[in-house]
Amino acid sequence: MRTIFQTSGVLMTDINNVVVIGSGTMGSQIGMVAALSGYNTTIVDISQEALDRAEDMLRSRMARDVEKQRRTQEDVDAAFARLRLLTDQAEAVKDADIVIEAAIEDLEIKRKIFTQLDEQTPEHTILATNSSNIVSSQLVEATKRPDKVCNMHFFNPVLVLKACEIVSNEHTSAETMDAVETLARKMNRDVIRMDKEIPGFVANRLLNALRREALELYQGGYASFEDIDLAAKSALNHPMGPFELMDLVGVDVVYLIRKAEFEQTGDPASLPSPAVEKLYNEGRYGKKSGRGWYEYDAQGRKVRAITD
Ligand code: NAD
Repeated sequence: MRTIFQTSGVLMTDINNVVVIGSGTMGSQIGMVAALSGYNTTIVDISQEALDRAEDMLRSRMARDVEKQRRTQEDVDAAFARLRLLTDQAEAVKDADIVIEAAIEDLEIKRKIFTQLDEQTPEHTILATNSSNIVSSQLVEATKRPDKVCNMHFFNPVLVLKACEIVSNEHTSAETMDAVETLARKMNRDVIRMDKEIPGFVANRLLNALRREALELYQGGYASFEDIDLAAKSALNHPMGPFELMDLVGVDVVYLIRKAEFEQTGDPASLPSPAVEKLYNEGRYGKKSGRGWYEYDAQGRKVRAITD
C-alpha cells in the first residue's frame, strides 16, 4: 500500500490488494465486485467446496451479465484474471492492503480470525468486518492495531445493491476510514459513513423496526404473512415484503443476527421471535434451502406460501 497526499493535504492510503474471508452469499460477491473494480482480489474459505460453489455461481452470474449486455466479456475476463480463490489464509493475506472478513456471524469465530489476521498480515493492513451486527469495537482486542479495525457493511445481493456502510469504532483512525471510503467509492458503492458505531448501523435498524412489527402482526394473528408482504409492496411501494426479504437474506442469518444482538445488549427484546426460531430449528432457511416462509423451485422461483 502506498501512502499518498491529496492536494487537500488529507492523508490517503492507496489500496491495491483486497482479501475477502468467507466465500458464502456475501464474501463471493464482495470479492467479485472488488475484482471487477480493478483490485487484485483473493477470496479465502476454510471449505474448498464452498470456494468451488462460489466460483461456479460467479462464472454463471457473469456469463448472464455479458449475455444481457450489462458487462463486456473483456471486463469479466480481466476481473477473473485478478481473482484468486484459496483455502490457505496465511498465503492469501501476506500482501493484503485490506482484509474484509465475511465469515459466519459468530463473535468467537470472528475474534479468532482477527487474531490470525493480525499475525499474518503486514502492519499497514486494514482489518474490516462485513458483520451485520457485530460492531468492530468487539474485535479490536483480538488485534494489536485498533486504529485499523472497522466495519465495512455491504448489502445482499452485493452485485445489485450499491449501499455500503462504513463504521468506525472509537479507536479507528481517520486515515483508515478515508482509505475504506475511497475503496468503497471505487467499488461503485453509495457510502453511508458513520463516525460513531451502533449495532445494526443505519439500514438494518430501519429494516428491523419494520420486521419486528411484521412479526408481531403475524404472531398476534392479525394478518397472514402473505398479506403483510402485500401491504409492504402495494401500500408502501417496497419491492418485496418483510417475509420475502427474510427468505432472501436467509432465515438462519436473521436468527443469528438477533442472537448476536442479544449477546451484545442482554435485552430480551433483541431475542429472535418464536416464529423465526421455529423456522430456524426446522432448517427452513429460505431461498437457499428451498423452503422458508415460502417454498421455492430449483430455479429459486417462489412456488407457494407454506401455511401448514
Ligand atoms: P454464509 O454462511 O453464506 O457464508 C459464510 C462462509 O464463511 C462459508 O462459506 C463458510 O465456509 C465460511 N467460513 C466460516 N468460517 C471461516 C473461516 N474461519 N475462514 C474462512 N471462511 C470461513 O454467510 P453470509 O450470508 O455470506 O454472511 C457472512 C457475513 O456477512 C456475516 O457476518 C453476516 O452477518 C454478514 N452479512 C450478511 C448479509 C446477508 O444478507 N447474508 C448481508 C450483510 C452482511
